Amino acid sequence: MNPQELTIENAQEMLQKYYGYPDFREGQKKIVASLLEGRDTLGIMPTGGGKSICYQVPALLLPGLTLVVSPLISLMKDQVDALTTAGIPAAYINSTLTGKEVNERIRAARRGELKLLYVAPERLELDWFRLEMAELSISCVAVDEAHCVSQWGHDFRTSYLAVSPFVEELPERPILAAFTATATPEVMEDMLRLLRLRGPGVFVTGLGRDNLAMSVLRGENKKEFVLEYTASHAHQPGIVYAATRKEVDDLYQRLRNAGFAAGRYHAGMSDDERAESQEAFLYDDIRVMVATNAFGMGIDKSNVRYVIHYNMPKNMEAYVQEAGRAGRDGEPSQCILLFSAQDIMTQKFLIEQNPQDSERKQNEYRKLQQMIDYCYTTRCLRSAMLDYFGEVHGDKPCGICSSCTDERELVDMTVDAQKIFSCIHRMRERFGVALVSSVLKGSRSQKVLQYGFDKLPTHGAMSGRTEKEITEIVNVLISEGYLALSEGQYPVVRLQQPAAEVLRGQREVRQRVARPSRPSAGGRD
Ligand code: ADP
Ligand code: ZN
Repeated sequence: MNPQELTIENAQEMLQKYYGYPDFREGQKKIVASLLEGRDTLGIMPTGGGKSICYQVPALLLPGLTLVVSPLISLMKDQVDALTTAGIPAAYINSTLTGKEVNERIRAARRGELKLLYVAPERLELDWFRLEMAELSISCVAVDEAHCVSQWGHDFRTSYLAVSPFVEELPERPILAAFTATATPEVMEDMLRLLRLRGPGVFVTGLGRDNLAMSVLRGENKKEFVLEYTASHAHQPGIVYAATRKEVDDLYQRLRNAGFAAGRYHAGMSDDERAESQEAFLYDDIRVMVATNAFGMGIDKSNVRYVIHYNMPKNMEAYVQEAGRAGRDGEPSQCILLFSAQDIMTQKFLIEQNPQDSERKQNEYRKLQQMIDYCYTTRCLRSAMLDYFGEVHGDKPCGICSSCTDERELVDMTVDAQKIFSCIHRMRERFGVALVSSVLKGSRSQKVLQYGFDKLPTHGAMSGRTEKEITEIVNVLISEGYLALSEGQYPVVRLQQPAAEVLRGQREVRQRVARPSRPSAGGRD
């Protein structure tokens, strides 16, 4: 192949010629242009956003080889097969090959016969491999799943730390391109620092795919909901994620008993069973897949119409990744999170069970709290999600999420909020949500009496509501930033600046919550 002019027009031509797509997606175009200018680039895109094309198309135009660092051996083969089928000269080197095969591929690269070479990060740590690579003309190093370099992310891989020394050691420094779907500020900072990107272009795009209608449903009967929902969407492919194997098995049985074409997937099944189940889902032999989060990595099924979370995931990164498996084809799809307070207990239990240092633990608790905040927010869910990931957006409500479509009227909750803030203040900001709620309810439990909280003027100040309702209101106030929880297993609820303004009567609080339950005129209802 002759060297070509590095213009976006030429890139477009390649896209058309090899992939048959008429145009880049908005996010792709900026990333491709940045790479063609020779700039280090960090591209943040949701799973299914089309990251691969962002480095594969430049690879076709750049004079030398593009080395792709990819963490999953199984994905490597799929990618290379797809490229080869499209007529793009590509290969991979990994532990499944014999020494002879590896040598053949390196020789092919040396002869300039390859445009893309996929390797696992561990390989960059091998001396002989680095020496071989130094002999080649490498134009670009593309790092896939770049968040693996960060300890803050959800799947840290030590070998990603070898990427930067490897790149710096090459005789000519290639362009460095990094891609991920994870964009929290800490992870982003780590990627820029640990991969040592130089003056990079950073592009965050498309996290809020506008075909996805996000919902959070609190207080549903989850089992009934799943049975009804799958029944009314019986002809559409969907995924139901549950937190534990036991729950997956249970839901799966129920769906089966109800006559649905359901499959299941979790780490307790044999490799064969899992592979079979996955195939059946890909080929539409089963409609609904009930699974733990073990299911999904690397699955490219474009027509998933709904993803239901039976339990709240551990953090927003995990949620967005899993929910993002819906609607990859751009057609309207639903992402539904069924939330219950029990989910918080489960996630805390899992954090405590996992042996890790205290800094990491604190970090997980913080992320968990942000996930809980998402479940309680009354804001547009898509805006809340984009804010979390730092994506710039116009703050325009999406119009299709469960907040945007909530028809309950906004109720002035200022007086209730004042009662809550005042009670927390009088309890010296030293207790958790549960005790604050029971004091406001007017409970005379042993703990309330022991601390003398029955003598507080706010004791029983909200006796017209149930303790559950009060907790619900407090949780919404937390998610809206009036209150904050300390970190750790037993968080203490504290007042924040906006709460002081509410107490001084300088600010109103509006929430979409059920009004206090009143006995109806006709007696029992
Ligand atoms: P990611 O690596 O971000 O998960 P992929 O690169 O696998 O995403 O792309 C996801 C899907 O979108 C693939 O089926 C791909 O062919 C398709 N796709 C990517 N870019 C375009 C484009 N510009 N036009 C149409 N389809 C595209
Ligand atoms: Zn919305």
